[in-house]
Amino acid sequence: MTHARTYLDHNASSPLRPEARAAMLGALDVVGNPSSVHAEGRQARAIIEAARAEVAALVGATPGEVIFTSGATEANNWVVKSGWDELLVCSAEHDSVAVPARGAANATLWPSAPTAHLGFLQTHLDMRAKRVAPGPLLIALQMANNETGLLQPVAEAVRLAADAENVWLHTDAVQAAGRVPIDFAALGVQSLVVSSHKIGGPKGVGALIVSATADLPPLIAGGGQERGKRAGTENVAAIAGFGAAAKAAARDLADMPRIAAMRDRLEREAKAINAETYVVGEGLPRLPNTACIADPWRKAETMVIAFDLAGIAVSSGAACASGKVGYSRVLDGMGLPRGIAGSTIRVSLGWNTCEADIDEFLAAWAAVTAKGRSEAKRAAAMGS
Ligand code: PMP
Repeated sequence: MTHARTYLDHNASSPLRPEARAAMLGALDVVGNPSSVHAEGRQARAIIEAARAEVAALVGATPGEVIFTSGATEANNWVVKSGWDELLVCSAEHDSVAVPARGAANATLWPSAPTAHLGFLQTHLDMRAKRVAPGPLLIALQMANNETGLLQPVAEAVRLAADAENVWLHTDAVQAAGRVPIDFAALGVQSLVVSSHKIGGPKGVGALIVSATADLPPLIAGGGQERGKRAGTENVAAIAGFGAAAKAAARDLADMPRIAAMRDRLEREAKAINAETYVVGEGLPRLPNTACIADPWRKAETMVIAFDLAGIAVSSGAACASGKVGYSRVLDGMGLPRGIAGSTIRVSLGWNTCEADIDEFLAAWAAVTAKGRSEAKRAAAMGS
């Protein structure tokens, strides 16, 4: 007998929303090249521009500020590799920011334990202000962490850097989009990144939002698409799905109290089942959909496999890349109690999560953590 699976890994990828599927299917039958002037071309162009307006609305930007990309990894790489004299990169950034930044000779890692240290930023900016005509500095600070859901002080960072010369603030809003309200215009960063598949759109499409008052060198030269910044005929169907998902995600912001209540129940009851349950980031400002919880007696990767066998998809560490289990530099760098970082799983809820999914998870949590304790007791008895 097959039992329906319980999917609780929306931070890795959220299931395709019906609205996005319908928009994609419709767009697949549109024949024109969006750059063509005839009716077929104009029809394809209209789909792209409608999607651009929806993505802009989700993050409080203007449509002209939205550049479609193949996803957030491309958009983050684009910004990080745009020829800065200096980079200041939060230690909790996603690999699509951290890895290209690590390759730069002039990058400083900005400590984040548990969230970005604002005093460190202030000191860095004060020292820099003493230099004559400092070269361009990129400051990268994600809006919310993909593993813990912790919200970063982006607005405060913008305020601290307000008087600094030649500074570009970049925020990766992949996990925040559709889960907390975002107002690009009010925030005052120069660039922001979103990814379609984290909000219920298709994979392989995202957007870089660049302020109308800022300018970035082009990523791909060619036919002049995307304001001359990223040439190549657009992926019309994927963009259509992204736009429909952005519209639905903006609507579903009103559903976040329900999601937060389910997440809170999950954490509360997980602790009631096993008093040793540790909730990472508890009490701190974080996304409404993410629970990052540990059973100190069990290894994260063993738990993920046990949950998978029980029909439940959760993840450990930054499980966005294939085969990545266990190690997490973000959790390691948070100063958690000993043994917690390696024993933490991420449970992330989304648009189609319901109470029954939480029930399934809690039943499995009881079994998985009881097994951890009985194995630990047996090992201790054998050792004594
Ligand atoms: N940034 C963050 C915070 C993410 O969680 C992810 C996805 N794991 C990315 C960037 C990369 O997004 P994409 O899959 O669209 O390349």
